[in-house]
Amino acid sequence: MNNGHEISDSARAMHAEPAPVTVIGLGLMGQALAGAFLRAGHPTTVWNRTASKADRLVAEGARLAPTAGDALRAGPLAVVCLTDYAAVRELLGANEDALAGTTLVNLTSGDSAQAREAARWAKKLGARYLDGAIMAIPSAIGTADAVVLHSGPAPDFAAHEPTLAALGTVTHLGTDHGLAALYDVAGLAMMWSVLNAWLQGTALLRTAGVDAAAYAPFARQIAAGVAEWLPGYAEQIDGGSFPAEVSALETDARAMAHMVEESEAAGVNAELPRLIQSMAARAIAAGHGAEQYPVLIEEFSRPGVPDTGQ
Ligand code: NAP
Repeated sequence: MNNGHEISDSARAMHAEPAPVTVIGLGLMGQALAGAFLRAGHPTTVWNRTASKADRLVAEGARLAPTAGDALRAGPLAVVCLTDYAAVRELLGANEDALAGTTLVNLTSGDSAQAREAARWAKKLGARYLDGAIMAIPSAIGTADAVVLHSGPAPDFAAHEPTLAALGTVTHLGTDHGLAALYDVAGLAMMWSVLNAWLQGTALLRTAGVDAAAYAPFARQIAAGVAEWLPGYAEQIDGGSFPAEVSALETDARAMAHMVEESEAAGVNAELPRLIQSMAARAIAAGHGAEQYPVLIEEFSRPGVPDTGQ
C-alpha cells in the first residue's frame, strides 16, 4: 500500500539535513558512536580528555572541540559515553554553564538510581536528559544488531530519534529514567544465567568424554525452546495465576534432585543445581507445589535468604 501522504513523508525524510551531534568521551565505545554518526552524515563534534583519541575521527570529518564546554555548546544534542557516572558528574559538573538548553543522552553504563539522580541533576541545570544503555560491542555500533535503549521524556527522545537511529536499533522504554539501566541489568541476568546453565551441562557431559562442541548445538536448541515459553509464562506472572498446564513445580523438583545428585556423583560443581533446587523447595514449602514454574517469581521478588551452607 502506498499513498501520497507516505510518499511526501519519505521524500521529506530523504531530503532532511542530518542534524548536528556532539560526542563526549572517545574510548572504545565513544569512538564507535562518533564514527556511526559521521557515516550517517551528521556533522559531528567530539571531545575527549585524551585528545589524541580523536585523531582518526577528525581524519574522517569530525570537528574536535577545544574544551568539553565548547563541545556541549556546539549543538542541541550531546551524547556522553564515559567510564562511569562519577566521571560524567566530574566532567559535566565542571561545565555546568554549558548545559542549559542541551539534550544530554548519557550512554555511560550505570544503575537505575544513578540514572534517576543524573536526571534530577541535569534538570536543575536546565538540560534535557535521556539515560541510555548500549547492548552491543563497539564493532556492532551503526548496524541493526546494536540495541541502544533509552529512557526519559518521550518528546526528548522523539526529537532526536532520527539522529540516534544512526547508532543501531534505538528504543525508547518509558519516561522513568531508570528503565534503561534496569533493562541492561535484566539482560545481563539473562545472559549469565543461560551461559552458566550451559557450562553446568558441559561440565557434566565432559565427565563422560563428551566435548563442549558436541553439546553446544543440543544446548542451543534447548535454550531456544525454553525461550518460546516466555510469553505464556509472562501472562501467568502478570495475571498472578499459575495453573500447572505443562508441569507442576513438585514434578520439576524431582528432576532438580537428579540434577543435584548427578552433579555431586560426577564430582562437578553443584552450587547452581543446589540453588535452583532450594528456591523451588521454598516455594513448595510455601504451598506452591501444584502450581507451574513461574510461581517462583515470588521467590525472585524478595531478598534471598542468607546462605547457611546447608
Ligand atoms: P573506555 O575505552 O575505557 O573509555 C572510557 C572513556 O571515559 C574515555 O574516553 C576516558 O577518557 C573517559 N573518562 C574516564 N574518566 C574520565 C574523567 N574523569 N573525565 C573525562 N573523561 C573520562 O571505555 P568504553 O569501552 O568506551 O566504555 C564506555 C562506557 O560504555 C562504559 O560505561 C561501558 O560500560 C559502556 N559500554 C561499553 C561497551 C564495550 O563493549 N566497550 C559495551 C556496552 C557499554 P580518556 O580517553 O582520556 O581516558
